[in-house]
Amino acid sequence: MAMQAISVRDGLKQGLDERSIATHCPYCALQCGMNLIRRNGVVSVAPREFPTNKGGLCKKGWTAAELLTNRERLTVPLVREQELWVATRIVGRSD
Ligand code: SF4
Repeated sequence: MAMQAISVRDGLKQGLDERSIATHCPYCALQCGMNLIRRNGVVSVAPREFPTNKGGLCKKGWTAAELLTNRERLTVPLVREQELWVATRIVGRSD
């Protein structure tokens, strides 16, 4: 099956198992072009042609996907309540 480039949002929404998503490294102002490839639930990074990186990545770019599965990764903002950090929750207008 040939891989197809789609947006990050569409890929996540569709829960696709083998896709290449064109995106940019988030770590510095160069914003190197990269592809995130999800295969069998594992996300890996591949470089992609872009004016600032011309197909290359530095070590931070190559390891960018490792944060996605880090158990200590924050997935919601935290607020401090007295001595504890507590996950925020979305409150609708009816609450
Ligand atoms: S791959 Fe390296 S040089 Fe490129 S944007 Fe990421 S951190 Fe910056």
